[in-house]
Amino acid sequence: MRGRGDVSLKSSVGVIGAGIQGVCISLYLIKKGFKVTLFDRDNPGDISASYGNAGHFSPYASVPINRPDILVDVPSMLLSSTGPLALKWNYALKMIPWFLKFIKNCSKKNMLHTAKYMNQILDLSLSAYDELFADIDISELVENKGIIYFWTNKDLKSRELEINMRKQFGIKQQILTPHEIHDLEPHIRQIYHGGVLYPNARHTRNPKKILLKLFDLFIKKGGRFEKQNIKTISFTSENRPLIGTDLNFYTFDKAVITCGAFSKKLTDQVNEKIPLDTERGYHVHFKGHDHLLSRPVIFLNRGFGITPMEQGLRVVGTVEFGGLNNPPSKKRILNLVNNAKYLFPELRDHHDEWLGFRPSLPDFLPIIGPSKNHKNLFYSFGHHHLGWTLGAISGKIVAGMIAEENTNLDLLPYSSTRFN
Ligand SMILES: Cc1cc2nc3c(=O)[nH]c(=O)nc-3n(C[C@H](O)[C@H](O)[C@H](O)COP(=O)(O)OP(=O)(O)OC[C@H]3O[C@@H](n4cnc5c(N)ncnc54)[C@H](O)[C@@H]3O)c2cc1C
Repeated sequence: MRGRGDVSLKSSVGVIGAGIQGVCISLYLIKKGFKVTLFDRDNPGDISASYGNAGHFSPYASVPINRPDILVDVPSMLLSSTGPLALKWNYALKMIPWFLKFIKNCSKKNMLHTAKYMNQILDLSLSAYDELFADIDISELVENKGIIYFWTNKDLKSRELEINMRKQFGIKQQILTPHEIHDLEPHIRQIYHGGVLYPNARHTRNPKKILLKLFDLFIKKGGRFEKQNIKTISFTSENRPLIGTDLNFYTFDKAVITCGAFSKKLTDQVNEKIPLDTERGYHVHFKGHDHLLSRPVIFLNRGFGITPMEQGLRVVGTVEFGGLNNPPSKKRILNLVNNAKYLFPELRDHHDEWLGFRPSLPDFLPIIGPSKNHKNLFYSFGHHHLGWTLGAISGKIVAGMIAEENTNLDLLPYSSTRFN
């Protein structure tokens, strides 16, 4: 007999999208005995958000972007030439419904709701990775030195809200004086007036290598990979998912849509009205300069970060509203380069300009769970600025849902039904 959580019949699952979400979901599923086929139109980790991110594992980051004071800051941030926010004007009209929903979610009550349920999964994020890392060698790839945020007094509101909320969640944080910042990171130009260290945060020196190690483990454990651009999702008369390319259909017992910012192209086909859009972000590398930092730093006034990686210093930032099809903005790249040189005047030429797509929902909670209309279809996307951190825990949750296991977590807040 087949009981709850019993997958002895080896149900088949098709997972669409081999970013960090799709790879972790596939790995957790295969460990539970499912037959898994993972699809991606590209080679895993070639260009996706899971390749180009800042590499932070940020379990402390539960204070969301949708907060009451952000609305006052947006106009000046949009006008600032050194700031983090930008809008492609040809996309402004398309963004209006998303912005209206975002504004609604900036109430104190909604901010606290997002913070509580981000904290629920962020709190489990590192231990979920540790389960997966037990089977691969990450010794050269993950460092446990924390992450530093720093700021100047100029034009910056107090960081009190974040610091107090994190205190309430019991998150470890160490307020830093300028002297302490200098002791920890002596090469940064001393423009700062204060900062905070999150000592439990980690970073990777190469997100792509981690993704590929997890992917290789999935293949080693019997997983299948199909390099296919998935165009359609439909269902057989028995409600089994049919995943379609231009040439073929693949049938499974269950399917998962986990295509990051591109997920909406498929969820629109199953009659869901999910307001997923993208916050575009960029990175550049300064090769051979990673010795200038011991750990990632974020300069809050200008909203960008720098992580020491194998490729050099990776300078990461910008929230640009402009959809999936606009070309990269040279101005935004230049802004990152100039910001990096502001902190490290010795930097010269940069390499590898990259544009990536954060998958963002207007309440800044991800969607993790079954489809509203099809019990055999599951979603995991919309992890915005924290999708790298939340890869393993989302994978564990989705695999548990598909295996029909019991959980102590309150998973309803992540359901797509909140938008219907
Ligand atoms: C600049 C920047 C910095 C960031 N820094 C951090 C950080 O430091 N820490 C953190 O936690 N998060 C960070 N993030 C966020 C994080 O990178 C993303 O949330 C996360 O990578 C999303 O993972 P994903 O698997 O959902 O999507 P993706 O990584 O985008 O993967 C989706 C995959 O789906 C595939 N796909 C899409 N459509 C189809 C289709 N139709 N058929 C087949 N395949 C398809 C794509 O090719 C892709 O491989 C950052 C993001 C950006 C842009």
